[in-house]
Amino acid sequence: MQRMVVAIDGPSGSGKSSVARAVAEQFGLQYLDTGAMYRAFAWWSLQGYSDMSTCPLSIATTPGAVSVLVGGTDVSSVIRGPAVTERVSIVAADPDVRAEAVRRQRALIAAAPRGIVVEGRDITSVVAPDADVRIFLTADLAAREARRAAEFDDPALAERMAATIAARDHIDTSREHAPLVQADGVHRIDATDLTLPEVIAMVGDLIRARYEEPAS
Ligand code: C5P
Repeated sequence: MQRMVVAIDGPSGSGKSSVARAVAEQFGLQYLDTGAMYRAFAWWSLQGYSDMSTCPLSIATTPGAVSVLVGGTDVSSVIRGPAVTERVSIVAADPDVRAEAVRRQRALIAAAPRGIVVEGRDITSVVAPDADVRIFLTADLAAREARRAAEFDDPALAERMAATIAARDHIDTSREHAPLVQADGVHRIDATDLTLPEVIAMVGDLIRARYEEPAS
């Protein structure tokens, strides 16, 4: 079977992570959440460190057992909390931080034997522009805010986390280095009125079609 790299970009709350993890499992591919890497770097910067090349970060790429460790500390949960979420886009706008992240992401992509599904903001444009399948997954702001709020039981926290989405959209799309853009030639999927299984099926069809193309 040909090696397959699937790149999925899109704004916060569009459902990228759920879709990427599901199709990775379905097709036996590795899975890389590059947002988790930027979140781990933001957590590291909140601990007082500014040089990301020294960050002892380890991200597992098995879709069913994703964990994020920094120097043996499991930060998988804390990086989803409000402190890191409110800081991450500022850290991710730093070109030195991005250069280190892209270097690590490309190494993880190269190490995946059968291939990998990679999701983020600049995968189709910068990290892996030659990926076999390239997707831009988006949805209206209100739909994305509602999806994010539904992930939290505490109403005050749900509101606080939903409020980060518009702020992060603004920073992520207007930053100078590798802003979130819809790259040329990608498949655009607007998930506003689609269910998660519908989006997973659409992405699955694109991957299957690529496997069926004759090798060039
Ligand atoms: O995907 P997630 O919402 O976890 O990403 C957190 C933040 O990390 C984004 O808001 C963005 O600032 C940054 N990010 C990025 N480039 C990526 C992935 C995430 O700048 N490829």
